[in-house]
Formats: sequence, C-alpha cells, structure tokens
Amino acid sequence: MSILTFKFGGTSMGSAEIIKGASQIIIDSAGQGHQVLTVVSAMTGVTNQLLDSAHAAARGDAAIYLQATAALRDRHHEAARALVQNGQAQEALLAEIHRLIDGFQDLCRSVAILGELTPRGLDAIVSIGERLSARLMAAHLQDCGYAAVPIDATRLIVTGNTFQSAVPQMDKTTARVRQQILPLLKSGVLPIVTGFIGATEEGVTTTLGRGGSDYSAGILAACVDADELWVWTDVDGVMTTDPRLVSSASVIPVLSYREVGELAFFGAKVLHPKTILPVMDRGMPILVRNTFNPTHPGTRIQPEAEITDYVIKAITIVQDVHLITVAGRGMVGVPGIAGRTFSAVARENVNLLVISQSSSEQSMCFIVPDRDSGRAVEAIKAELAREIERQDVDNVWAQENIEIITIVGAGLRETPGIAARVFGVLAEEQINVIVITQGSSDTSLSIAVDSADAKRAVQALHRLVVGNGNGQGVRAPAR
Ligand code: ADP
Ligand code: ASP
Ligand code: MG
Repeated sequence: MSILTFKFGGTSMGSAEIIKGASQIIIDSAGQGHQVLTVVSAMTGVTNQLLDSAHAAARGDAAIYLQATAALRDRHHEAARALVQNGQAQEALLAEIHRLIDGFQDLCRSVAILGELTPRGLDAIVSIGERLSARLMAAHLQDCGYAAVPIDATRLIVTGNTFQSAVPQMDKTTARVRQQILPLLKSGVLPIVTGFIGATEEGVTTTLGRGGSDYSAGILAACVDADELWVWTDVDGVMTTDPRLVSSASVIPVLSYREVGELAFFGAKVLHPKTILPVMDRGMPILVRNTFNPTHPGTRIQPEAEITDYVIKAITIVQDVHLITVAGRGMVGVPGIAGRTFSAVARENVNLLVISQSSSEQSMCFIVPDRDSGRAVEAIKAELAREIERQDVDNVWAQENIEIITIVGAGLRETPGIAARVFGVLAEEQINVIVITQGSSDTSLSIAVDSADAKRAVQALHRLVVGNGNGQGVRAPAR
C-alpha cells in the first residue's frame, strides 16, 4: 500500500461536475488500497476575483467587491447544492460558505475604510478561495460515503512572514503534518487540504505565491514521505510547449527534476517552479496528469534525465519582462561593477531571470519581471552614482517589449551545433535575437526577442523539438 499525494488545480475544481470527476479519481485510488492525501486549489478564477476585490476595496470602490461577494456566494452555493444531497450536511456546508464569504466581505470593508491594503491583509483575503474549495470537495466525498475532512493548511504549513511568497519552515511543518495527517491516512480518512496557503508560527495567514498550490502539494508530499506526487491539471502532461501557442505541442513522457525546473522557471505554467524542491532529496516521482482524461499516463518527473535520440525537449516563453542594460566604455576593467550591480538588484528582492555580459565588458544586461524593472534601474543608478558621474558608466536603462524564449533539454551544452540550429531557424524566420545566454545550466539555452516576434519564434523553434516527427529534431551526439 502506498501513500499518494494528489493536487487538483483550479480548472480541476471549476464546477460541481468537475469536482465530482476529481473526487472520483480520489475514490478510485483509495479503492485500489492507496492512502491518498489531496491538496486543492480554489475554483478557477476565484483567486483573481479575490485579488481584484481587495485592490478595488483599497481604492474605495465598494461596488466591485460587493459584486464579487455576491458572485462568489452564488457560485459556491450552487456547487454545494449539486455536490451534497444529504439535507443536514448541505445546510452545514452552506452555512460554512456563508461564514467564509462574510469574513471576506468584512476584510474588504476594513480595507476600504482604512484605504490601505497591506501584504498581510491581501493574503488573508486571497486565502478564502482555497478554504471554500477544500470544504466543497470534502463535503462531497462525505456525501458519497467516504470519511473525508477539509483541512486548512494554516494548521500545517508553518512559514516565515514574507507575505505573498512565504517560505516554508520544513522542520516545524513536517512535525505538524506527521502528527495531524499520518494518523488520518492510516485510518483510511481522506484529508482534503487547502493549497496555496500557510501561516506563521503565530497563526497569521500567508500564501506561497501565485500558482503555489503545486508547491503546497510538494511540501506535504515530502512531509508524509509519499511514494508519489500526482499533479492533476487540465492538459495531458507537461508538453513540448504551451499548447495555447502551438497546437502541435505534444506530451513529454519523462522529464528530470532539472529539466522540469528549467521549464517551470522559464514560464511553463503547468508546474510551479518550487514544486520539486521539497521532493528532490527523496527522489520522489512527480506525475503530471489530466483530470479530464485520467487514463492518459501523463508526464513522469524523476531524478535523472531520460536518454533520448533528440536533445531539445521543450520550448518555453516568459512574457512581461524588461531587459535592463548597464553600459559604459569606462566599465572595462573596473573591478566589482557587476557584483555591485547584482547586489543592488538583490537588495530590492528582484529576481534576475537571465544575465549576459558582452565580451568587451562594455555592457552587461539582464532580464527582470516588468513590475520590478523601475525599482531595479533606480537601485542600480544609486549604487553606481559615482561611476555615472565620472562617465565610466554611460547609461542604465530598461527596454520593454521583450520576451524570453528558453530551449530545454538535458545535455544541451555537450551537443555540438545547437546554437547554429537555433539561429538557423530564427534567421529563416527573419527574427532578430536581442540577447542569448547559456547560463549556469547545461539544460537550457535562453534568448530574448522582441515581443512582436516571440510567438513566431516559439512556433519556429518547436520544429527542433524531440518527437515532433518532422525530421528536423536536433539529434543527440552518438554515445
Ligand atoms: P492548474 O489550475 O491545474 O494549476 P495551470 O493553469 O496553472 O493549471 O497550468 C496548466 C496550464 O499551463 C495548461 O492549461 C497550459 O495552458 C499551460 N502551459 C504552459 N506551458 C505548458 C507546457 N509546457 N505544458 C503543459 N501546459 C503548459
Ligand atoms: N489559487 C492560487 C492561484 O490562483 C494557487 C493555485 O492555483 O495554485 O494562484
Ligand atoms: Mg497552476
């Protein structure tokens, strides 16, 4: 008998009908003798609605959050009625939904009165989505005759107080999870835990970042020492590229942690980039599977890369970024400019996605999320004020309308001719490459192109991917 941790994303919790389908997947696995720990996201679209309401409240726009309150109440009540037949249980669930949504409305009202939304307040508000969905699923499973319990991860996942991207404290979390969850699993109970959220040791609600339910599932899977983590979503697995951009994208049967880490970091939304962190040490396999097509085997993510005939496994894209350049003829040979630049950016808590330095040392550039770019430029200008005054550094500026495209596959670096093939394809399409980096990883190669060219570039590069069956894939060197 094995322990499985399941995670159902927002689309897998989209309506009563879909929650029934997801619940059936749990029931089937439990029926096969597995102990199943389930982590759920909010119903699709709910987190965005909660965020929008909170921001509207801060602007004093009561109409928006009142409208959202009504819509959320209707949607969850309707789902509750369809999911629970037993009259008393349905009453209790409806009352619980009322209580949570009243709490949400009260929070929005306080934000509106204060005219201020703190990161802490925002996390309290957005946490409601998962609290609601976990209760819906657990109540449905109970209605089907199974011992299921909804559990708020605020009781389990202990985090620091960096609201919006809280860092879990694994020792404390493991102790709580083992104490509270293992006895349930052993006695055949189905715990349905809220994804996305945690709490500080003092009990203040935090969230792990957008898309963070995958990470929650990784954390909980590690804590119960699950045999496998299965991430149930709305596509058949991790695909060769975003299926919304390229219709011929296909499922990748096997990926290594490293490969999926690069894919996720560079924009493949299908898995949160931190998901693998808690499970890597244990070598725990992660399966990405489709709630709407549960017989498809999906993608298996494992410690080592699979040796394949072709090298490039996937192409990803990151939008909403800016390219920051620091340039100056006087930079040549001045020691420490790069270090000081990066430290200045790091102090602002800005995440650098790609770094590149021209070989002449006259300029360096890097890519950051667009929302952080203004802050990053200001911080660098302040740090290099003396060099700018002396004109050793001529300029620090951010370029908009940039997208990063990343080519992922184990062993890219050892394969001769990759860059030639990549540039060949882009040249055929007359796409200009603004930056290229094959950074610290032998598993990925990133380029930046103008946003206007990005979609075409992904479609063109996708021709080089493994298994496309078009004869253009880049072959691995003979072993
Ligand atoms: P969930 O709600 O289950 O967490 P997400 O919407 O967060 O699902 O992630 C799944 C979506 O990620 C897919 O519907 C797909 O559009 C998108 N996606 C982007 N890149 C990829 C990729 N390489 N493979 C699979 N899906 C991808
Ligand atoms: N509901 C959260 C979000 O939309 C977490 C998740 O779905 O993973 O970001
Ligand atoms: Mg997701």
